[in-house]
Amino acid sequence: MEEDYYKILGIEKNATADEIKKAYRRTAIKYHPDKNPGDKVAEEKFKQAAEAYAVLSDPDKRSRYDQFGKAGLEGGPGGFNGFSGEGVDINDILRQFGDIFGFGGGFDFGGGFNQQRSSGKAQYRGSDLRVKAKLTLQEISSGVKKKYKINKDVTCSHCHGSGCAEGHQPETCSTCHGSGYVTHTRQSFFGISRVQEACPTCHGEGSIISHPCSHCHGNGIVKGEEIVEVEIPAGVAEGMIINVTGKGNAGKHNGIPGDIHVIIEEVEDKNFVRDGQDLIYNLLLTISQAALGENVEIPLVSGKARINIKPGTQPGTTLRLRGKGLPAVKGYGYGIGDMIVNVSVYIPETLNSEEKIFFESHKDSSHFSPSESIKTKIFKAFKNYFH
Ligand SMILES: [Zn+2]
Ligand SMILES: [Zn+2]
Repeated sequence: MEEDYYKILGIEKNATADEIKKAYRRTAIKYHPDKNPGDKVAEEKFKQAAEAYAVLSDPDKRSRYDQFGKAGLEGGPGGFNGFSGEGVDINDILRQFGDIFGFGGGFDFGGGFNQQRSSGKAQYRGSDLRVKAKLTLQEISSGVKKKYKINKDVTCSHCHGSGCAEGHQPETCSTCHGSGYVTHTRQSFFGISRVQEACPTCHGEGSIISHPCSHCHGNGIVKGEEIVEVEIPAGVAEGMIINVTGKGNAGKHNGIPGDIHVIIEEVEDKNFVRDGQDLIYNLLLTISQAALGENVEIPLVSGKARINIKPGTQPGTTLRLRGKGLPAVKGYGYGIGDMIVNVSVYIPETLNSEEKIFFESHKDSSHFSPSESIKTKIFKAFKNYFH
């Protein structure tokens, strides 16, 4: 069953042109790709709404649709293929229908430009910057504030970003008369339509600068630096990216600043291997400790803990210390991981004559050879290690 255009926009069959327009605007704002980044379902709904509006806002197409459904739209003048599904550039839809959006925030047209729908004028957007955060496990465990000296585009202090020399102001563009766009007709999904494009003279800004500021050459931005403090939450992991909104390069002519992407890197730890939120510690015991048992101290991410080694502890034994691992990133998981202690036993590499005699004299002791039940038990532990 194909989706009904009236249902997509949430309106009645007898809706007026104005109601259709309002309904489309409401739906499009809700599913707008800027508001739902990466959300394929929202993108599809956005496309469906645009398709529904394309048909219902056109009296001729609407009456054919009312009589024959979608079939009534195929063929005929300007043939209509709709534009849901793959292979449709969402920016085409945005360009086509941009004029009915009366809200700010704008769409990113790529190429560092942002089309402000409220006025039709475009705004420059500064580019994003990347920095790396190399973190120790201690920092990951507790969360940390990092300061960066960022070399970036900043607003020109002489013209305060306008790009104009002192005593001058931007002048209305004569090509577009200040609107920022020019209109032409073109062939599109639903036949010939009128398309708005950024004005080629002023690049959509609606104004030009005839007396540029000498410090920024009319750009409104200059090279500079800023100290940026970034709060990195506890629990982050290698490869995660923290986005710091608005701290990237300044936009030309007081445009929209870019973001800073902080890329997380983990510094290798001398004690622990990380496995998600768990930490694995390899406890290397001496033969005597493993045979006699002992209360031993092990390191934690912060501080230490004591654990009891039972007499006759085998290498490959694992002990779990609940809640001594890493926290989940807030909003992305729950609780705190565990510390897993893996026991190994160090076999002496050199022995003096006295020690040799000790081992030789016990060579045939039944206690020095594993019984069948012990062999089975160790084999089970070994198998579990791989599952
Ligand atoms: Zn300037
Ligand atoms: Zn212009």
